[in-house]
Amino acid sequence: MCLFCQIVSGKIPSDTVFEDSELLAFRDINPQAPVHILIIPKKHIDSIAEVENEDAYLVGKISLLANKLAKEEGIAESGYRLVTNCRDNGGQLIKHLHFHLLGGRQLSGNLG
Ligand code: 5GP
Ligand code: ZN
Repeated sequence: MCLFCQIVSGKIPSDTVFEDSELLAFRDINPQAPVHILIIPKKHIDSIAEVENEDAYLVGKISLLANKLAKEEGIAESGYRLVTNCRDNGGQLIKHLHFHLLGGRQLSGNLG
């Protein structure tokens, strides 16, 4: 079972900020900004490259959840970044689809 599936199952603890039947959001263990939350589907999907038609709504739900969490974390007005890394060149270390919600400081404009 992958690391994030183990977090979903409760085998590995996490600092959960949101959970429903389909999504889980928890704080990154090595935060790169004052707010750094990972949003994942509970269903294992390797990366954004493996999203199938039937899963596409999950990406929309993740976007809505990011907006909600940004408001709760007080970064909605100042701005934030929602990013997913895909496969090796994209810098994806954990092969379970996840979106990073980053904010609370001025983020670099450099995307690569
Ligand atoms: P990636 O490089 O795959 O896009 O990002 C993986 C993220 O998962 C990294 O930011 C890393 O700090 C985070 N991470 C790795 N292991 C754990 C863990 O056990 N718990 C939590 N909360 N985050 C983790
Ligand atoms: Zn997984």
